Amino acid sequence: MAMKIDTDIPGGNVLVLSSDEREALLKKDLRDTEGDWFYWCFRAEFDKKGTYTFRFEPAASPAVGSRGPAISADGGLTWRWAEPGTWDRKENFFRFHYDGEEANPLIFCLAMQYQEINLNAFLREYADSPYLEHSILCRSRKGRNVPLLRIAEPGRKPARKLLLTSRHHCCEMTATYVLEGMLREALENSGFRSGIEVFAVPFADCDGVADGDQGKNRKPRDHARDYGENPIYPETNGIMELVKREKIDMVFDLHCPWIYGEGDEYLYFVGPRSRRMEKGTLRLAALAANDPSRRVPFSAENIILYGTQWNTAANYTQGQTLAQWAGDLPFAELVTSMEIPYANVRDFTLTADACRSFGRTLARGFLGCSG
Ligand SMILES: [Zn+2]
Repeated sequence: MAMKIDTDIPGGNVLVLSSDEREALLKKDLRDTEGDWFYWCFRAEFDKKGTYTFRFEPAASPAVGSRGPAISADGGLTWRWAEPGTWDRKENFFRFHYDGEEANPLIFCLAMQYQEINLNAFLREYADSPYLEHSILCRSRKGRNVPLLRIAEPGRKPARKLLLTSRHHCCEMTATYVLEGMLREALENSGFRSGIEVFAVPFADCDGVADGDQGKNRKPRDHARDYGENPIYPETNGIMELVKREKIDMVFDLHCPWIYGEGDEYLYFVGPRSRRMEKGTLRLAALAANDPSRRVPFSAENIILYGTQWNTAANYTQGQTLAQWAGDLPFAELVTSMEIPYANVRDFTLTADACRSFGRTLARGFLGCSG
């Protein structure tokens, strides 16, 4: 065999239907997902130089995104997009040329994965910061420690508390790069810290992230529909306890949309159900759009208001989202959520750094809303 495929990596997900010298037929592992979704991630090792083809079956079930696969040569720490012209999203395949020089094995993924290794790299960078605290929110169903981060200046009591979350749908990896950018801004901007204390749960479905599940539309209901009286996941229960205990008045829940398409290749806010939160979100959107340091295309009109398109009561019959639950609390000031595309904002290709930079833009927006 000239190529060996496996999924024994954090976030691993693929079924190998068949494989020969130069071509593999693959299928996404949907596991407990209701209906179809599009996440996959695998490791491949090449014995010989040459061009290898990876084809997803069936062709009509999307897997290859609008920038082709993301590729990592360092075990998932850093990612690059495939060379233009080496994939076809409609035909659902990509090709990879192994030149015999590059590190081997490589990881291929739907998009730039963000796993524990990435969070740890970030935490190491700021290990000496007196403002960053790393603790455990709770144990996941499978016994994993769910990370909880807090950024605050010792002895200072800012007017607002902000909770950041991502991966309620565990495959929505790009959102966590944006979340990390917000944390970086909080750590480096003393003006921010004087106005806002930050809590963050980067992996709201911790097991799903590590196991490489889809997470979206998980049966019987997914983590993003688990807010209310009887939560079934330890993480959502832990997040509700935290919000109530700390009286967190700003909550920002980050997601990713569908894999690609006209309505999925731009950054947009998900309009909250509550009118008051909608007003705050419009203000936040305007501040983000007008941030002079903003690098990623975004406009103040990028919001799907509650009651329009897919953002209607029919989308939430299984249960409430974090934003809906927290937005109705008596002490809520600004509770909202956003969709971060997997690969690109129209013609603009997202990189890890571009996502972090947009996170900084959002953090400054929250600061502007906190007064
Ligand atoms: Zn989501």
